[in-house]
Amino acid sequence: MTTALIVVDVQNDFCEGGSLAVAGGTKVAADIAAFVEGELGRGTDRSFDYLVATRDRHIDPGAHFNATPDYIDSWPRHCVAGTQGADFNPAVADLPFDAVFDKGAYQAAYSGFEGTIGGDDGGEGLGAWLDAHDVDHVVVCGLATDYCVRATAADAAKHGYRTEMLLDLSAAVSPDRVPQVVAGLQEAGVVVAG
Ligand SMILES: [Zn+2]
Repeated sequence: MTTALIVVDVQNDFCEGGSLAVAGGTKVAADIAAFVEGELGRGTDRSFDYLVATRDRHIDPGAHFNATPDYIDSWPRHCVAGTQGADFNPAVADLPFDAVFDKGAYQAAYSGFEGTIGGDDGGEGLGAWLDAHDVDHVVVCGLATDYCVRATAADAAKHGYRTEMLLDLSAAVSPDRVPQVVAGLQEAGVVVAG
């Protein structure tokens, strides 16, 4: 089995102090960094073969941004390309990602499978990259549990990867909804751990 750990959208705007902060985002960033560094320290015994990340990276995503957002389909401006809010949280910024997939340049994009290397420049997509590296097992964590992590894990299962989601290394926009999100993912075949 070849495993990729997918770190979803651990960016400044989704952490405390950002324009669309998820409670616990900063802690998740630190916890992911500690987990990854610990695993890398295990050498060939580590639990993943590849480490990849996704980023929300907006240029003009239309109705995804709204001055009076509903926090369901519309959101305050966040992760605008070229701003500090779109950068990785500093805790994960120096992790040795094998590839980074940007999504959402001109529309809402919740799933990392909508991302490409270089974003709108038409680079390789996440699914193609995973297949080119013979990945058959993905482990998903990051921000936010009930949006991009959920969408990425659901897409991974749909594409036929054995899929795991790490609840302890994710944080939700609406923590109340997490049990419902977990149940939906389990129904889609995702193993939810933590
Ligand atoms: Zn967005």
